[in-house]
Amino acid sequence: MSTAEHLRPSVELHVHLDGAIRIETIMDVAKRRGIPLPAATVSEMTQLCTLCEPSTLTNFLDKFNEFMHVIAGDREAIKRIAYEFVETKAKEGVVYVEVRYSPHFLANSNVEPIPWNHKEGDVTPDDVVNLVNQGLKEGEKDFKTKARSILCCIRHMPNWSMDVVELCKKYRNDGVVAIDLAGDESLNCKACEGHLKAYEEALRSGIHRTVHAGEAVEVLKAERIGHGYHTIEDPALYKQLLEQNMHFEICPISSRLTGACDPDFTKHPLIRFKEDKANFSLNTDDPMIFNSTLNRDYQIVKKYMGFTEEEFIQLNLNAAKSCFLPEKEKKDLLNQLYEAYGMVNNTSF
Ligand SMILES: [Zn+2]
Repeated sequence: MSTAEHLRPSVELHVHLDGAIRIETIMDVAKRRGIPLPAATVSEMTQLCTLCEPSTLTNFLDKFNEFMHVIAGDREAIKRIAYEFVETKAKEGVVYVEVRYSPHFLANSNVEPIPWNHKEGDVTPDDVVNLVNQGLKEGEKDFKTKARSILCCIRHMPNWSMDVVELCKKYRNDGVVAIDLAGDESLNCKACEGHLKAYEEALRSGIHRTVHAGEAVEVLKAERIGHGYHTIEDPALYKQLLEQNMHFEICPISSRLTGACDPDFTKHPLIRFKEDKANFSLNTDDPMIFNSTLNRDYQIVKKYMGFTEEEFIQLNLNAAKSCFLPEKEKKDLLNQLYEAYGMVNNTSF
């Protein structure tokens, strides 16, 4: 990250808590818990946990097997990663972030099956949400970056999804702003009964909805799309999404390293989105796995896609308008940005 670059206040809407953990923290927690790791140093562990060349989504998802078992089921660690996450985002100039995670993947009780080959413990998905909330709140207080969370359903675990929407409802006034569907998109499960029911319930209860998969936006009544690069290959769908002013959560570095897009950034679908004045944000997705920062994503699109400072400001305003905060807080966020960008307060919003 270039320190010379001015950090404009920004809004990030698509980043996974468990893909944004500090390697040092994993090493630390493993030591405390007596969990052996295949790496002795931070740089060795970084090599194990990160992708540096374009790969596949499956290889990318395999990386989580290297470290999730260290954090899952440990109250102190779960709270700590949330707290440190806010610190990291504050340093990147992020003023508001929506961070997402699967409560089930960090639990070891009330979850079937218990993930990461753990034995049954006493940390339930509900406890996980509580712990993450505590960490985010303390981080927000200490670092002044506002943080809210999105709870993820997992594509191959449709039996967890009703639980996820119930947790969204329980914590809707306490840190949680939306539901998501994440996981391996090669599993064609967009119409899985469990996910469908959960999204129906979210819609019915007024829980905001985003989804990793452009093709499922209709079926799941999503308000935002995680990535959505391939929607431009379906002109009718793409046209409709533009007309709806659908928000695309774009993750440039992620899209290259997970193999979602052509590795040549000058051919990236984001260029088309920009030309069509689509509604989108720039996001890191899983900065730890990509050994990256939000600033690097901005630098890449500036260098390879010709983004200007004005376009950066516009996309951040779009992100703020498309965030899942309640209306009053959304207005406050927009005013904060207008002020930071030296723009006249736009009261027409
Ligand atoms: Zn994602």
